[in-house]
Amino acid sequence: MRAVGVHEDVIVVESRVWRTAAVLVRRGGEAFLIDSPVFPDELELLPSLLEQARFPFSGLLATHGDWDHLLGRLAFPGSSLGVAETTAARLRAHPGGVQRELRDFDERNYLARPAPLALGSLDALPVPGYCGLGDGELELHPADGHTIDGMAIWIPWARVLVCGDYLSPVEIPLPEASIDGYRATLQRLEPLLEQADHVVAGHGGALDRATARRLLDEDRRYLEALADDDASAAALPPGRRDGEQRRLHAANVARLSGASGP
Ligand SMILES: [Zn+2]
Repeated sequence: MRAVGVHEDVIVVESRVWRTAAVLVRRGGEAFLIDSPVFPDELELLPSLLEQARFPFSGLLATHGDWDHLLGRLAFPGSSLGVAETTAARLRAHPGGVQRELRDFDERNYLARPAPLALGSLDALPVPGYCGLGDGELELHPADGHTIDGMAIWIPWARVLVCGDYLSPVEIPLPEASIDGYRATLQRLEPLLEQADHVVAGHGGALDRATARRLLDEDRRYLEALADDDASAAALPPGRRDGEQRRLHAANVARLSGASGP
């Protein structure tokens, strides 16, 4: 696990798997963990990392309802977990779904966890909206399209945009819910990105503004080609063309043909 400070109040933590990024953000004697790393030893390190950095832990947030971003309660059992209303609804509609996917991952990788993951009660946050932290406020922006739910989080005083599973330098766009929704989210992220000193991608960690800008343009081009008649011919973005990304591209194409078929 890598931990990088991008601002005195913001630390980006990157898991060893899928470069899954989590963000520690502090303001006025409080700190949130946004999303989570994945491996048990990485989660176990978080409380002491916060303590060393003098980030007084006060709660969890998650950008969306995919299981790999929802593991914060394993590090901080019983703490509050704030999610977009859309994410709360998604999780309520599939009770036990996150735990099943976590168990599948753990079984494939021969991992044991000290305790089961409890997602019982969630704080459903209105999005767009605000979420107080210390004497400051985080801005919450809708970010659906990758999945049916989710939010991007703008940290105004640090000029950091935590965007969830968008603008990844290592993963092609995965419009699992809708291409139009995905494009609309990129449109909403654009003005935030223009003001950002750093953008944190859910897979790939902290990016500078120029890199995030380039990824936004590449992702738009890819989505445009994917929405075209011959989706399978869409060129993958440079640097994201290896075997795994080609497999994800084939899954995008299959999902589309399934959606438009008879
Ligand atoms: Zn993810």
